[in-house]
Amino acid sequence: MMLMSRCVGRQLCRFKSAPVPLSCRMQYSQDLQGDTPAPFRPETSMAKTLMDIGTRRIFSEEHDLFRQNVRRFFKEEAVPYHAEWEKAGEVSRELWEKAGLQGLLGIYTPAEHGGVGGDLLSAAIVWEEQMYCNCSGPGFSLHSEIVMPYISHYGSQAQIDRFLPQMAAGKCIGAIAMTEPGAGSDLQGVKTYARRDGTDWILNGNKVFITNGWMSDLVIVVAVTNREVKSAAHGLSLFLVENGTKGFSKGCKLDKIGLKAQDTAELFFEDVRLPADALLGEPNKGFYYLMNELPQERLIIAVMALASCEFMFEETRSYVTQRKAFGKTIADLQTVQHRLAELKTEICVGRTFIDNCLQLHSEKKLDSSTASMAKYWASELQNKVATQCLQLHGGWGYMWEYQIAKAFVDARVQPIYGGTNEIMKELIARSIVGHR
Ligand SMILES: Cc1cc2nc3c(=O)[nH]c(=O)nc-3n(C[C@H](O)[C@H](O)[C@H](O)COP(=O)(O)OP(=O)(O)OC[C@H]3O[C@@H](n4cnc5c(N)ncnc54)[C@H](O)[C@@H]3O)c2cc1C
Repeated sequence: MMLMSRCVGRQLCRFKSAPVPLSCRMQYSQDLQGDTPAPFRPETSMAKTLMDIGTRRIFSEEHDLFRQNVRRFFKEEAVPYHAEWEKAGEVSRELWEKAGLQGLLGIYTPAEHGGVGGDLLSAAIVWEEQMYCNCSGPGFSLHSEIVMPYISHYGSQAQIDRFLPQMAAGKCIGAIAMTEPGAGSDLQGVKTYARRDGTDWILNGNKVFITNGWMSDLVIVVAVTNREVKSAAHGLSLFLVENGTKGFSKGCKLDKIGLKAQDTAELFFEDVRLPADALLGEPNKGFYYLMNELPQERLIIAVMALASCEFMFEETRSYVTQRKAFGKTIADLQTVQHRLAELKTEICVGRTFIDNCLQLHSEKKLDSSTASMAKYWASELQNKVATQCLQLHGGWGYMWEYQIAKAFVDARVQPIYGGTNEIMKELIARSIVGHR
């Protein structure tokens, strides 16, 4: 793991490293086993702010250096342009290519497959830092740690060679299309159909709510390939469909209440002829591939939710210490102090669970039910924190120019996508009382 994160750090060394702030520098405690002082990494609850670098036992000093560079990247390359992207409903292609150049895409994809070959925790740093700068436009996590793994895990060598290096470079933007107007939670209700025609496939159907859909160069499409099977799960397959393929078209960018700079779109497939090598993995195994990969998607949502809570908390702490009412700041009011104390406690309790899930997943030990708990609980907390932090901003919190307003609307989708929280509870319940 150390070596891999060093590899990520090396790719980023073109950034000048800023010194770690004094408040976040490593503290040292005596190693009980001997005289060597063991580095002590404070938990976020002990740090000056919840976004301090140099905290949390799951990370190393190398991760800290990497985090500094990622923070700088988002601050310089995303924050100044985000308002413009919100109006456009999409981020720039240039951003994708810059992120690729800096080694921020495909971190967790092995280097021999064209990725960066870093560790999961380095990938998680990119997810977190994106939330810490409140820039929800770039669909990096979906591209890098949801779409790329399907190709890396189930693709042929030719598919890996063709797509993954381009994706890591930010020159090929990836999306995954499962949801349809009539099938969201119930994936087995998918109607998009691919029929064989000699060695080719003919694809027909449409998909909705597809993240990165408008800008996508490559889409993994879930389609029925066998209608005869008893359970629909046994008849689904995955296809790699490239932008520009005849019969493949994109609807408009969807007008959402949040994630304004994210190019979520509808996709249409009309008699799209696909060669045999557009099939990803084996025919009719699509549902199993999805079941294998979905826990990572849920973990990503949970990690981003918790990071957003930390961002919103710090944003609010800063606001209440400046805002004056009744001759003092509102941070002087005891009810406000108690509210902040409650929020910080809940966020820090959540942080330990999410870090534990990250650690388990980096050891490939996170099970589906625990990932579902993380997604459900962290996204609910995110919405609670968003509501309460916005309230502490008063009317200004309702204004788009305030960061908390954006964080509030962006939070709302988290309990919905990646499997709704109701579906998460179904999955958790199955691990409690079995499949009934
Ligand atoms: C911004 C955004 C981005 C998205 N990105 C993608 C993407 O990149 N790719 C993709 O494929 N999809 C994407 N989605 C789709 C998303 O995953 C679905 O919206 C989600 O799975 C819910 O499906 P649905 O909208 O059809 O709701 P439905 O399935 O119709 O659910 C409606 C309500 O019924 C509840 N419900 C349904 N079944 C049950 C049950 N068995 N028990 C209890 N309650 C139930 C749900 O929890 C929900 O509250 C995205 C959605 C949004 C909004």
